[in-house]
This record gives sequence, structure tokens and C-alpha cells, in this order.
Amino acid sequence: MSNRKLYLSNTSIQTFLQCKQKFKYKYIDKMSVSESNPNKYLSFGNSIHTTLANFNLIADSKYKQLDILHNLLRKNWIRDGYESKEEEREFGLRGLDMLSNYYSKPQDKGKKNLIIEEMIYKNNDDYVLCGKLDKVYIDNKDSVEIIDYKTGNTVTPVDNLQLSIYLILAKEKLNYYPSKVSLYYLSKNKKITNEIDENSIKNSNEIVSNLCEKIKKEENFKLNFNSHCKNNCEYYKVCDASKIANSSNIESLDNLDENFKNFIF
Ligand code: SF4
Repeated sequence: MSNRKLYLSNTSIQTFLQCKQKFKYKYIDKMSVSESNPNKYLSFGNSIHTTLANFNLIADSKYKQLDILHNLLRKNWIRDGYESKEEEREFGLRGLDMLSNYYSKPQDKGKKNLIIEEMIYKNNDDYVLCGKLDKVYIDNKDSVEIIDYKTGNTVTPVDNLQLSIYLILAKEKLNYYPSKVSLYYLSKNKKITNEIDENSIKNSNEIVSNLCEKIKKEENFKLNFNSHCKNNCEYYKVCDASKIANSSNIESLDNLDENFKNFIF
């Protein structure tokens, strides 16, 4: 791999684990491809994240009102990716509803915010670990908690890699480890929390450092050709995967029964 410093985040490491060739196209070759269709879920998620960040940054409690929270969503609304005005309106109303539920029973109320939607970088000898933290705060029991807001409907536990990266980045910024990492599912106003102990800190550092070292040393970026490539990968057209797919189609045509060939035409 080149001597340029590699920037690694949860997303890029997940990409490496999913397909090494895709990782190379995207993060080493920095190959740009024409953007796929704008994604309404991404627009919706980013609109809500910016809104909550703005709201969390309001210091004066008299401005922490529901109508202000709703208006922040209107101000931060990203319009890309919706198929019609009706669909956009439906998502907008869903967003207002989500924020109303959050406002009426917030699961992340505390004494002091320490980090609000901040990109954090941790420099290592030959790579930089980076990522954005939605919120880190001191809760009412004096514990320091990392919050990652989620706008999707599927509730899943914190995965080990994500948890590890959050911990390391928070430590980089605060100089100590938080005691909890939580995923906050806004659509259900439900929080899933992992308590952090000495063991999880040790494991986190090992997981991230091993993976980053592995990526740094990788020479052979194998492609992981699978049935999702065509629909899910923006590099499908430039990747050898498309050639494999085409040749297997040709092979399957070659193997067609003679009678069937006659039947088609
Ligand atoms: S098309 Fe498939 S094999 Fe090729 S880079 Fe994308 S995910 Fe990897």
C-alpha cells in the first residue's frame, strides 16, 4: 500500500470487511463514480441529525421548546431523493412526530454536554482513525455517555467495531473513557445501552488496532463478488465483478438444452 496516511472510520472499515476491492476503489484509489440516485433515507437521517445537534447546542432552556425543535427540522430539511411531494411530506410529518416523541420523553437528558456532532481524529503512526460523535454528555447520575442517534426502524445492538471506535475517539477528545455507549432509536424513542468496563476498553483497543494494521498491510484487495454487487455497489460497472457476471450468463446460455434454444427462437 502507498505511504500516504490512511484515514479509517467505521464506514471505511466496514467496507473493507464487506469487500476489499471496493475499499481500494473508494479509499485508496479515491475513484469517483457518477453518484447513484440521491437517497431519501440518507436525506431524512441527515436532516434529523443536524436538527438534534442544533437543538442540543441551545444553552438557554427557555428556547428548548417543541416548536423550535420542529422549526429546526424545517430549516435543516434536505429535499434530495424523494419521489414526489407527497412522499416528501410523509417523511417530513414522520420526522416531526419522531421529534415530538423525543421531546416529550428524552432518554438523553443530563447535566452537561461534552461533545455535540463533532468530527474527531486520532493520529497513529501510519493511519488516522476518525469519526463523528453525535453526542457525549454527563447524565443525571454523573456517568459519561456516548449517544448515537438512529433514524431507521430496525433496532439492533451496538456492534463491537462501532462501539470500539466511539470509545477510542471519545477518549482522544476527553482524555478519559466514557462509561456508557448507547444507540438511540428515535422512531421508537428507545435507547440500547452498553456499559463499559476495563475489559471492553482493552478489547476495543485490540479490535481496532488489529483491523487497522491488517488494512494497512493489505496488498491483495480481493473482490467479494456476490448477488448484491449489481444493485448495491457503485463500482459495479468498473469492477471485474460485472465481467464475471456477464461471462457466467454466457456460460449458462452455452449450457442450454438444444431443444430449449429452439423453443426460444
Ligand atoms: S462490484 Fe462487488 S466485487 Fe466489485 S467492488 Fe463492488 S462489492 Fe466488490
